[in-house]
Amino acid sequence: MKCHVCGEHLEPMISDLPFRLGPTSIVVIKKLPVLECTNCTEFSIEDPVMEKVEHLLEQTDGAAELEVIAYAA
Ligand SMILES: [Zn+2]
Repeated sequence: MKCHVCGEHLEPMISDLPFRLGPTSIVVIKKLPVLECTNCTEFSIEDPVMEKVEHLLEQTDGAAELEVIAYAA
C-alpha cells in the first residue's frame, strides 16, 4: 500500500490516535494498528480496523470530555 500524498511506502505501526466524537468529546484509542508513511506524516487505517474503531466509539457514551480506550481490549 502506498501513501496517497507522496507515493512512498506505508509501514505498519502501532499508534495512539484521537477521534473526535463531538464539539467537546474526544476518545483516544491506544495501540491502534495503522499504516504510516515513511516519508511524510500521512497515515491510513485499514477497513477492518476502522470498523472495529467505529464499534468501539459506539460503546462510549460521549459524556466524558476525554476518554482513553485500548484497541485490543
Ligand atoms: Zn507520504
